[in-house]
Amino acid sequence: MTVKVNSQRCTGCPGYVEPPCVECCPGDLLLINDQGQSEIRNAAECWDCMACIKACPNGALETQLPFMLAGLGASLRPQLYKDKIRWICKDAQGRIEEFEIPRVIESAER
Ligand code: SF4
Ligand code: SF4
Repeated sequence: MTVKVNSQRCTGCPGYVEPPCVECCPGDLLLINDQGQSEIRNAAECWDCMACIKACPNGALETQLPFMLAGLGASLRPQLYKDKIRWICKDAQGRIEEFEIPRVIESAER
């Protein structure tokens, strides 16, 4: 699996020394490309830890679930709140399910 960048939402995080997604990836897999947006340099090495997805302040990243698991177009994206994380799961037919879990560990918020 890997992450997908929403080009409508990714701002490139101007003003950051390193954008949150680039800074937090334990595999150093993300970079800012020539268009000023986040890009994964080697999708095969992404192990879906979701650190970058949760760190992005603009909700510009989501996990792409593979065809074998969920079908083309399926995705999983978290929305962070102070006290909870809302997970938005979209299946291959575009049906959306949302579920929430309490947030017990504070992650990198700016
Ligand atoms: S943190 Fe989000 S908005 Fe900023 S560069 Fe990364 S993907 Fe783009
Ligand atoms: S999901 Fe984890 S391993 Fe994959 S690009 Fe994001 S931070 Fe890196």
